Amino acid sequence: MDLEDLYELIPQMQCRGGCRLCCVEFGVPSMTPLEAERLDRFLQSHGMEKRYAAGTTCPYVGENGCTIYPVRPLICRLYGNSPNYLCKVGARPVRLLTEDEEAEIFHYYYSEFAGGRR
Ligand code: SF4
Ligand code: SF4
Repeated sequence: MDLEDLYELIPQMQCRGGCRLCCVEFGVPSMTPLEAERLDRFLQSHGMEKRYAAGTTCPYVGENGCTIYPVRPLICRLYGNSPNYLCKVGARPVRLLTEDEEAEIFHYYYSEFAGGRR
């Protein structure tokens, strides 16, 4: 299983039109070294600069949403899709992950892609 396979276990969800609340208010997303490398390559290939956060707003949120969407880290993909990360404005995926599925995804994420680090 590679990182993309893991991401594919997470349902796609449709955010409320124009909403960027979690990207602006809920802190800067954590990412594993592997995700950071993917982000660096994406920035380089798109002629974008690395950005650093000020306060709780993700440095990659733009006027129209995420500017690094294809390489956003797992926590951003999980948000709104799992029982412990419900969307605060009520957007829901077609099917919410179960707690067991969420735990399994985190287990693989930390054991396979973060060297066991949490
Ligand atoms: S997950 Fe919810 S809070 Fe976050 S951007 Fe989407 S609709 Fe807004
Ligand atoms: S990486 Fe993208 S989806 Fe994740 S918090 Fe930042 S702007 Fe939002």
